[in-house]
Amino acid sequence: MEQTRYSTGQEIPQSGIYSVFHPAHRLIRSVRLLKGDSFPRCSQCSDQVSFELVTLSFTADVDGDIHIYELPLQDQEEAASA
Ligand SMILES: [Zn+2]
Repeated sequence: MEQTRYSTGQEIPQSGIYSVFHPAHRLIRSVRLLKGDSFPRCSQCSDQVSFELVTLSFTADVDGDIHIYELPLQDQEEAASA
């Protein structure tokens, strides 16, 4: 099975958990995204971020879905206190 890789700005084809690939910054490793939104950008730069679908989300869109437009850093707490 071939993994499809998506990038910032593309339309999200399926709601689910996506792995985040972005060597330039230590972003969170995975994120839950919603079908119909666009793949989010890095909060630190305007470079493309890549995504791969990990797990489809089978739950109905009722459990407090959050629309994500920017990906936070993994160690945001440290960065905030620095
Ligand atoms: Zn970045």
